[in-house]
Amino acid sequence: MADTAIKTSEEKKEYFDTEEELEEKIDKLATWILSSEHFISFTGAGISTACGIPDFRSGMDTVLPTGPGCWELAANKKKKKPVKPKKGASVSMHKAYPSKTHMAFVSMIESGLMKFLISQNVDGLHRKSGVPAEKISELHGNTNLEKCKDCGKQYLRDFRVRNAKKAKAHKTGRLCDDPSCRGPLRDSIINFGENLPEEDLNNAFNHAECADICLSMGSSLRVTPAADIPLRVAENGGKLVIVNLQRTPLDEHAALNIHAKCDDVIERLMEKLTIEIPKWKINRFVEVCCKDKKVTVSGRDEQHNYYSLFPKVEMKNGRDLKSLKTSIKEPHNFPLTEHSPSELKIKLYFQGHYGEKPLILTFDREESDTKLFKIVFDPFVGEWEPAESLF
Ligand SMILES: [Zn+2]
Repeated sequence: MADTAIKTSEEKKEYFDTEEELEEKIDKLATWILSSEHFISFTGAGISTACGIPDFRSGMDTVLPTGPGCWELAANKKKKKPVKPKKGASVSMHKAYPSKTHMAFVSMIESGLMKFLISQNVDGLHRKSGVPAEKISELHGNTNLEKCKDCGKQYLRDFRVRNAKKAKAHKTGRLCDDPSCRGPLRDSIINFGENLPEEDLNNAFNHAECADICLSMGSSLRVTPAADIPLRVAENGGKLVIVNLQRTPLDEHAALNIHAKCDDVIERLMEKLTIEIPKWKINRFVEVCCKDKKVTVSGRDEQHNYYSLFPKVEMKNGRDLKSLKTSIKEPHNFPLTEHSPSELKIKLYFQGHYGEKPLILTFDREESDTKLFKIVFDPFVGEWEPAESLF
C-alpha cells in the first residue's frame, strides 16, 4: 500500500454539518440505500475512534476523545514540539468494544441491505462484532488473524498474533496444525510498501464493480490501492457517500459529503431505515469431540472455523480430585480412561479481555461423540448465558 500523508493544516481541519444539513443528507442517504441493488460500505480508522482506538491523521485540535492521530503525535515529537494529547479514553484493540457503527453494519448485513463490507482497519472489530468472514475484505489485515505460508489455512486467535519486531517480518513462530503441512504461520498485517492480500482485494473490487452505492465511513481515503475501491464505484456511475470529519481527496467524486461523527450519522440513518442497532454480545462456539479414546476441545468462530479461544481447559476424568486434568496448550486433548465418567465436566478459561469468567460445559459422551456448543457472553452484565448445544 502507498500513502499520501496529510501535510497542511487545511487538510487536518475538521468540518461539521449543521443540524438541517445533516437531516437532509441522511434522509437522502436512507432513500438511496432503500432503493439500492448492491449497497457496499468502506471503513477506516474513524469508525473505531468511538471505541477508544486512536486514528492516524486527526490533528492536534481534533474533537475526538481519542485525541490526535498516531502520525500527528509522532510528527510533533520529531519537531520537539510539546505534545499535549487530550485526556483520551484510549484502550488496547483487544479490549475495545464495537461501536454503534460496527453493530449497525452487522444488522444491515443480516437484513440483506448491505451486500459487502471493505475495511482498512486492523483492529478486528468488524469480525468481533459479528460480520461473517465471507461478507468482508480486511484489506490491511486483522490483528487476530494469522495464515499458513504454505497451505493458506487461516487461524483466528483471541489474542494479538503479531510478534515480529521488524516491519517486513511477519512470522509468528507458530506452525500450521495440519499434520501434512506444518508450515510457518504469518500475521496478516499489511505495512506500507507491502502488497495487499490478493483475494481480499479482488473480492472488494468485484463488489465495487456492481455497487450502485458505496458508503465510506471514517476514512481519509488517502491510502491506495484501498481508496481506489470507493473511487471505482463513483467512476462506474454509482453513488459515493463520504462520512468524515476532514475533507478527502475523493470529495469531488462524491454524491454526498457528510461531515459529522460516524456514530451520530449511523444512529440517524438506522432510525430512518427502521433497523435497530443491536447491543453487542460475544458469540463463541465450542466443539467437543470424543474419538479414539480422547476428548478434544476447540474454539470455533461464527462459521465454525477453528478459533483459538482458551488459554486453559480443565476436565475431571474420574471421581477423585487427582483426576482433574489441565491442558494449557492447543489442541486441548484429554485421554479417556476406564474411570472416565460418561458425563464429562469441561471447564473453559478465556483470555478475559471483557472479563469473561471460566465456564463449565457438560458433555455426555454416550449421547453423541461430537457436539457444537454456542456460548454467549454479555459484556455489559459480565455473565455467560446458558450454553446451547447446536448438534
Ligand atoms: Zn499449512
